[in-house]
Amino acid sequence: MAKSMKSRAATWIRQRVEDSYIQSEQDSLKKHYLRFKLVGFCDEPEIHLVAKDDGLEWGYTVFFLDGSVPVPKKVQLHALSWTELNAIPEEEKVDKIHEEMMKAINLKKKEYRKCQYCENKMHQDEFYDKKTCKKCAKKHHGIYSGN
Ligand SMILES: [Zn+2]
Repeated sequence: MAKSMKSRAATWIRQRVEDSYIQSEQDSLKKHYLRFKLVGFCDEPEIHLVAKDDGLEWGYTVFFLDGSVPVPKKVQLHALSWTELNAIPEEEKVDKIHEEMMKAINLKKKEYRKCQYCENKMHQDEFYDKKTCKKCAKKHHGIYSGN
C-alpha cells in the first residue's frame, strides 16, 4: 500500500529539519521555498514551505495571464509564527510543524474532488457540477461547457 500523505509529510519535514534547519528561527535559510508534492491528485499540485522573518509559511503558486505571459503569484495557505514555535520544547517542534503542515495540505485538498465517473481527483475548476468533471459531463450527458 502506498504511504499515506501524513507519513510522507512527516518524513519530508524530518529531512527539511536536517538539511534546511526549518525548525530554527536562527539557522533556517529565509525565503528559500521548499516544495512538497501532493501525489494521488491529477496534476500533482505542490505546496511550499518557506521560512520567513516572522515564521514558517505554507502556500502554493498560481499563474495569472498577463496578456499572454503567465505570471506566478504565491498564495498563502497557513502560517506558524516563530514566537509560537519557539515556545515549544525542541523535541516537539517537528511534530508541531507536521501538525501545522497537515492543516495546509488539507486546505489545499479541499480544492480537489473526485469525479463519480472517471474517479480522478481533480481541481474543482475541472468540474461541470459537484460530482462530474467537464470531460465526463460531455461523455456521459452530452453536455458541452465553455472549455
Ligand atoms: Zn470524470
